[in-house]
Amino acid sequence: MTDAPQSDAEAARWHYKPEGEVAMNPLFHWPPRPMAVLRWYAAYWLALSSTTFALALAVLGYLLFLPPLEQMAQLSPGWMLQVWLLNLIPHVATAGLLHLWLYRWRGQGQRFKFDARDPAADNGTFTFRNQVQDNMFWTVTSGISFWTVMQWLVFWAMANGYAPVIGLASNPVWFLLMFPILVVWSSFHFYWVHRALHWPPLYRLAHALHHRNVNVGPWSGISMHPVEHLLFYTNFLIHFLLASHPLHVLFRGYMQSIHPVFSHSGFHKLYVADAERAKMGDFFHQLHHRYFECNYGTVEMPWDRWFGSFHDGSEEGTRTTRARRSRMYGR
Ligand SMILES: [Zn+2]
Ligand SMILES: [Zn+2]
Repeated sequence: MTDAPQSDAEAARWHYKPEGEVAMNPLFHWPPRPMAVLRWYAAYWLALSSTTFALALAVLGYLLFLPPLEQMAQLSPGWMLQVWLLNLIPHVATAGLLHLWLYRWRGQGQRFKFDARDPAADNGTFTFRNQVQDNMFWTVTSGISFWTVMQWLVFWAMANGYAPVIGLASNPVWFLLMFPILVVWSSFHFYWVHRALHWPPLYRLAHALHHRNVNVGPWSGISMHPVEHLLFYTNFLIHFLLASHPLHVLFRGYMQSIHPVFSHSGFHKLYVADAERAKMGDFFHQLHHRYFECNYGTVEMPWDRWFGSFHDGSEEGTRTTRARRSRMYGR
């Protein structure tokens, strides 16, 4: 089942492959294509997407559960526990439900599934010899802890005047602009951290754990080695430089953590009750998990295009990526 023409040799390697070249943010296209840019941003800021989902979680979390900044001026177990639960509960619920729907209940069968295979079981590559348990373990122990500790640090710094704070009423334009700025910042930060993680010594030490998952699932999203989590979540340090609000810090956390649940889901679209409900998977990153030395960034910024590591989903892309991998590892 594929949209691609039969002549596409790459399509034969996938159960489902989205049609055509992997789509990138047209913002960086020359000559400019303003309508395409508008459509690109509307598709995930004005529709059900991981971005709007992260925003909704952040707004709910902020209004209903996050303690006021004054309370966070001292490190005390009460609010710190609340912040941890604000991360743990939505993350476990999202990854858990998506996993149940897609892989346990097989709610949409193989529809829009990139890789025909099931998650690995009885495989010594994984902790507990089981891919899903391995991914859950690294997510809940290391992932959610590093995410939470970085937020503790930022909230505490904001409350004590070490990190600049703005409000919606005092600075509405900057307040709203911070959301897209944070998305671009994350893409920039992720590309460079991820490039560093593919340096062979660091890859072997840390990143190989995430790459156990050639065939990814929702729990693979932030299943990483603690060293990778430490690097990955340093992007919270932006809040020490740019003026922001606790709502942005929550949004930043959900984007960084829950977005990968969807982008690693292994399915291109969510299909419920006989209709497509949301664009979900990320074929760009799925290619990275299968071929390794390509698509280190995200579709938001063309770093991979500029630095020659872009895999557009074609047979040619696979050939160049394999050659690059041989050069890097000398085989
Ligand atoms: Zn990944
Ligand atoms: Zn990687």
